[in-house]
Amino acid sequence: MSLDVNTLFVVTIYVEAILGLLLLFAWAQNTAIHAVCWWGFAHLIRAASVMLFGMYGTVPDLITIDLANALLFTAFAVTWTGARVFDGRPVEPVYLVTGAVVWLLVCRLPVLSDAINTRALVASGIITTYTWLTAYEFWRGRSEQLGSRWPAIFMLFAHGALYLLRTPLVAMLPWSPSDASMYGSVWLTVLSFEALLFTISVAFILLAMAKERTELRHRTAAMVDPLTGIANRRAFLQEAEELTKRHLAKPRPTAVLLIDLDNFKSINDRFGHALGDRVLEVFTEAARQSFRVSDLIGRLGGEEFAAIMYGVSCDEAVATAERLRERFAQAAQEVDGRPVCATVSIGVVVCQEAALDVPEHLAQADQALYFAKENGRNRVEVASLEAFVARGSEDARTSVGAAGLATKSAA
Ligand code: GH3
Ligand code: MG
Ligand code: MG
Repeated sequence: MSLDVNTLFVVTIYVEAILGLLLLFAWAQNTAIHAVCWWGFAHLIRAASVMLFGMYGTVPDLITIDLANALLFTAFAVTWTGARVFDGRPVEPVYLVTGAVVWLLVCRLPVLSDAINTRALVASGIITTYTWLTAYEFWRGRSEQLGSRWPAIFMLFAHGALYLLRTPLVAMLPWSPSDASMYGSVWLTVLSFEALLFTISVAFILLAMAKERTELRHRTAAMVDPLTGIANRRAFLQEAEELTKRHLAKPRPTAVLLIDLDNFKSINDRFGHALGDRVLEVFTEAARQSFRVSDLIGRLGGEEFAAIMYGVSCDEAVATAERLRERFAQAAQEVDGRPVCATVSIGVVVCQEAALDVPEHLAQADQALYFAKENGRNRVEVASLEAFVARGSEDARTSVGAAGLATKSAA
């Protein structure tokens, strides 16, 4: 395959400019992700730099080599800054221009003005540093579940590695068999071609990251309760649906809990709605500490919450509910310095049979919750025929509810 380097330059300038404009256009449509604007400018700066490279021989080297490279390094620095901005880190103006400044100083050093290999090494070092720093910024933000983050990291790492290898490769392999001029260089063609492929791929992957984040944020906003940060009713029922399928494939005892804060209206009335919100947050924290990571927790609405525990016995479910009840009563005795003394009532049902039917089990848990409220609040009640049979009806605290379900006070 032979590629004319002049043609490559023209194609690269065109592609860089189009990608830059495309990214800026995407940013204008959704200005929430500022990094896209930085990345757009990075491509435009690179287009300008390649344009200057292309003028080699017709204007002084100061422009086609010194200035063109300074612009190229700035473009890499701008991409890196975009990666910082993407993950909410501040812009570092000094490091943004460090590459270009170091390069211009090196060009001015009389001893290095003719040392092509040393200058090439400095240039490669600057590009590798910025490219790897960009990969590092994306890696640092990996807790955000974006699938496109990983190809971006890989691609940036590989590009940086290639530039680092460039100098030893150039030294080992003949620069050009027939012609020692810059345009005769095989390496210039190879690297220009790689840079073109890299720039296209990276622009698309960065755009994909921005798009994926926007979608993730929309999805999260639709599924997460903004006050407590846990699943809202819709998300909870959706996740419960998934769990139902898992349960069908591998049936195991599963507990459904319905939790309701006691006399919450009066808490709002006495301490104000804002403190009521704080109490809901305190409850969520207690719930997070009481349940396993694998348990589903959701806010069904108002001061009503639900949880599903897959693969637990009735005793384990009741023990968890008890722990939550006590932990919350303890934590909510005083909230923001006010003597709130909030408590919860919990209805528990354990499904032993083959099919988990979440709406049906929530209705049964609701019955148990009703008895908890009837029996004085701040207590856990179990509604489970199987549990009733298994635990024996001799238990003095066990009673039969109106719906014919066995309910047992565990408080
Ligand atoms: P019970 O013990 O029988 O459950 O009594 P309760 O007062 O907790 O129940 P009720 O259903 O009468 O009142 C629920 C209250 O919860 C009424 C409503 O104003 C309040 N509430 C619902 N959502 C929120 C919220 O997001 N923040 C606050 N602060 N209050 C809320
Ligand atoms: Mg209530
Ligand atoms: Mg309620």
